[in-house]
Amino acid sequence: MNDTPLAAGPHNRARSPHAVVVGAGLGGLAAAVRLLAQGMKVTVLESQAHPGGRATRIQDGGYTFDAGPSLITMPEVIEELFSLAGTTTERELRLHALDPFYRISWEGDDRTFLFSGNRDAMLEEIGRFNPSDRARYDAFLAASRRIHEEAILVAGNQSFLRLSDFLALVPKMVRLGALRTVDGFVARYFRDPLVRQAFDFHPLFIGGAPFRVPAVYAALAYLQIAGGVWYAEGGLYSLVEALARLVQTGGELCCNRPVVRILHDGMRVRGVQTADGGMIGADYVVSNGDAVTTQLLLGRRAPQSRLTMSCYLLYLGTNREFPQLQHHTLLVGRDYRGFIRDVAVDGRIPESLSLYLHAPSRTERAMAAPGGESISVLLPVPNLSHGHDWEMLAPMMRERVIDILEAEEGLGLRGLRDSIVVERAWTPLDFRDRFGAAEGNAFGPEPTLFQSAYFRQPNRDRRLRGLYYVGAGTHPGAGIPGVLMTAAVTTGLMREETVER
Ligand SMILES: Cc1cc2nc3c(=O)[nH]c(=O)nc-3n(C[C@H](O)[C@H](O)[C@H](O)COP(=O)(O)OP(=O)(O)OC[C@H]3O[C@@H](n4cnc5c(N)ncnc54)[C@H](O)[C@@H]3O)c2cc1C
Repeated sequence: MNDTPLAAGPHNRARSPHAVVVGAGLGGLAAAVRLLAQGMKVTVLESQAHPGGRATRIQDGGYTFDAGPSLITMPEVIEELFSLAGTTTERELRLHALDPFYRISWEGDDRTFLFSGNRDAMLEEIGRFNPSDRARYDAFLAASRRIHEEAILVAGNQSFLRLSDFLALVPKMVRLGALRTVDGFVARYFRDPLVRQAFDFHPLFIGGAPFRVPAVYAALAYLQIAGGVWYAEGGLYSLVEALARLVQTGGELCCNRPVVRILHDGMRVRGVQTADGGMIGADYVVSNGDAVTTQLLLGRRAPQSRLTMSCYLLYLGTNREFPQLQHHTLLVGRDYRGFIRDVAVDGRIPESLSLYLHAPSRTERAMAAPGGESISVLLPVPNLSHGHDWEMLAPMMRERVIDILEAEEGLGLRGLRDSIVVERAWTPLDFRDRFGAAEGNAFGPEPTLFQSAYFRQPNRDRRLRGLYYVGAGTHPGAGIPGVLMTAAVTTGLMREETVER
């Protein structure tokens, strides 16, 4: 993108176009930073008390939890954003490369897989499961690198406003094998079922079921291997704080200001109305809100999209350390396929649970009270469209999750239940009530082929001039790099419109 570094403060933006950004999630903050760099006057309105959206933070009794995302990948996307604001990642954040990235454990199986970016270490890990799969690792990397370059780096930075843009991409994606499912793609390289799981679970980080989403998302494993998995000191929320600081330097960031209507005259947006009755005029409105609820703010009918799964999350502060625990752990349940089918297809409370654990105190002691751990546990669950009663399910789910964690010898979490001194839980109801997420979805519209690129909510509204979208609901989609890239695509289109006006 060709934005110039942030130079103008609020004082000399008086005659610049005014953009109102609805929502201060990572997508909204990134868009605001870019629009400031383009010289616009920017106001960000956030309904919550703090910026960050799903990337929020919980602090209690000396324990800090990243409530949502925890793995940082593609740090170059963050670096680009900072450089537009005239700063650097080094000045704003303390990033640490994790090695290994995470441990994968299987319920009832002693074996573990340490996933990392080190080729020799990865060959050794694969070889312990299946010697013949070892020989296929380089071929897998080469194929997924091509997908990463074409589908993520090229197509991810392009807007798909016309169907022809999408159709032009299809032959290339077919050639790359990127249109089969992630699971099908991985199965071409690895025979061992556990090795396959180690390389195909990555789309779950953005709510994609590996058996349903296109192999474009196989690039998620590659981009970790090639670019590393990073941790920001203080937790992921340090990134939110850094972006919020930059927005406040040149623009306005107002929390506790829910937008209840996007105002327009049928042709062009005119501004927004906030819940306190205030009207704010704007040349541009950029919605970072949930794709479905944004349409309701316009007085339109909710679009018919299939939304991702939700999550049940447990945040646990313990009064003792668990030195065996890794910073990131994936515990795959006995029936991985059944688990994903239950959660992503049939909408059932799964019988077999697969869990992801984040324990930042393993890397940074200050994330927990002295002598303790800060542990977040993420369990994908069906979204609210399947009618489950989370008031009733939550206590039961807590017991199931802690039982499983304590029982798994390899995790070293025996005694977890008795060590808990701080505890919070989020259910799909939290996603609905905190972030206005339709059906309590955790990751936006499901990233299937026919909900991607042209078929996803466009970065620019197809009917109303001046209305734009950023964040997980639009192209290229969810995940930290994904939503930061949506901001690049969207603000690029806005710059074109500004030049035309
Ligand atoms: C549990 C979990 C774990 C994850 N783990 C990872 C990970 O490890 N790595 C990774 O890269 N990605 C991860 N992700 C995905 C990533 O967190 C999200 O894709 C990203 O944070 C979404 O950002 P966003 O800007 O699209 O939206 P959001 O974070 O949803 O922000 C939207 C904001 O808009 C506000 N808003 C909505 N409507 C209004 C309104 N009417 N008025 C004012 N404000 C409004 C909301 O309050 C919210 O603050 C994870 C997601 C979840 C849920």
